[in-house]
Amino acid sequence: MNPYAGTLKRLQDAFYSGRTRPLKFRINQLRSLSRFLKENRNLLLDTLAQDLNKPSFEAELSEIVLCEEEIQLALNNLHKWVKDEPVEKNLVTQLDSAFIRKEPYGVALIIAPWNYPLNLLLVPLVGAIAAGNCVVLKPSEVSKSMEQVIAEVLPRYLDQNCFATVLGGPREATLLLKNKFDYIFFTGSPTVGRIVMAAASQHLTPITLELGGKNPCYVDDNCDPQTVANRVAWFRFFNAGQTCVAPDYVLCSPETREKLLPALQRAVTQFYGKDPQCSPDLARIISPKHFLRLRGLLGSGRVALGGQSDEQERYIAPTVLVDVKETDPVMQEEIFGPILPILTVGGVEEAIAFIRKREKPLALFAFSNDSKVVNKVLEQTSSGTFGGNDGFMFMTIISMPFGGVGHSGMGKYHGKFTFDTFSHGRGCLLRSPHLEFINKFRYPPYAPGRQGLLVWLLKHKLSLPCSIL
Ligand code: NAD
Repeated sequence: MNPYAGTLKRLQDAFYSGRTRPLKFRINQLRSLSRFLKENRNLLLDTLAQDLNKPSFEAELSEIVLCEEEIQLALNNLHKWVKDEPVEKNLVTQLDSAFIRKEPYGVALIIAPWNYPLNLLLVPLVGAIAAGNCVVLKPSEVSKSMEQVIAEVLPRYLDQNCFATVLGGPREATLLLKNKFDYIFFTGSPTVGRIVMAAASQHLTPITLELGGKNPCYVDDNCDPQTVANRVAWFRFFNAGQTCVAPDYVLCSPETREKLLPALQRAVTQFYGKDPQCSPDLARIISPKHFLRLRGLLGSGRVALGGQSDEQERYIAPTVLVDVKETDPVMQEEIFGPILPILTVGGVEEAIAFIRKREKPLALFAFSNDSKVVNKVLEQTSSGTFGGNDGFMFMTIISMPFGGVGHSGMGKYHGKFTFDTFSHGRGCLLRSPHLEFINKFRYPPYAPGRQGLLVWLLKHKLSLPCSIL
């Protein structure tokens, strides 16, 4: 039994009817999406508070404003993005029309996680709409309140023939993935990423994988400890650490660690007060399962700061761990919570060796007053994204590609890159049905002299904008 066959058929029919192709349709849907954000702002903020106790300051910045920015950018530039892109021609095709057509794939599937349940569903959707696709949205079942809003409120704003939402968890997603999609955009864990990729391979469906991992953060001796502590703490404890691009662990010398610890303590007290559990500015852990997982990780090494937890509230205090060994549980998995281990290394060389021994992370951070040190880390490592002297501020620049590399994912998006992700670049050559005399020298019987001429014509280019079509 395939419970999604009807939905898929409806969207496929709409796509082949050409409904999503006109620029006007895409612009209308994007404007509607913008209205959805505007008219439901309070509902969305309340919903994020219900699921994650997400402070409205953090929710506005990371969920709503970034989506609005993406929509605005697409609305401002869509007329340029959709244009055929002319390509350089050789002398043989000089009279022809050669270009790249930005073609929508068809019906795309977007699967999202729970940590930024609005942003990670809508930002890919903006590019998918802009590129002219129909879309099935699969929000996370873990962020239950947002899943409900996506199911009940969002459809009022989008064309029902072209956009659908499928609810549920792994069981429903497994059934959904048995269907043939034209594109799959997945954000989530590497474990589920493998499952999704295997399912996509059955239909040879192109795929983007936005995954997670452990993001190293190197802190050089040459730094101002308080500045580094403020920046690392904010990005680590933002959304209670449930951010794929958050610094996962710090690498520094034993001397710098001793300076960072009191500075981190000051930063945490300044941000969240003496008792962070009473702070309105600290989110909660999404579910009892994740709470228990994180509480288990508090046993790695020694608690230098924080360490308190409250199961009832799914609260984990902003915590710093020291004396952590590479083999400890906290170093075996992505932490995805408000826990920051500090591991000591002899210097930048050792930190780079430590990073290179592991999977390529989604984000990597280096802090130093010496730009040579930051550049050294940048040059001698690889990661999806890189932050020098700050956390994931790069997420606010939507003209920058965002995506993983290796174990942290494949493909990139944000801004124009999302449009490109959801567009097939179709190479097109349109020739004249006439002028057959030009083609004569390519047909058999082949003569040696003609081969030389043809090779010469193919190798040479003229940059004339000339075409006969
Ligand atoms: P997850 O992989 O458990 O779930 C992601 C989505 O996949 C959900 O919608 C879920 O319902 C669905 N899913 C679960 N099991 C499935 C299966 N067997 N088949 C198909 N779909 C299935 O991830 P999560 O716990 O929701 O999110 C946390 C992970 O996501 C972390 O690893 C984090 O780093 C990563 N993440 C990455 C990014 C990024 O942009 N690269 C952003 C946010 C989160």
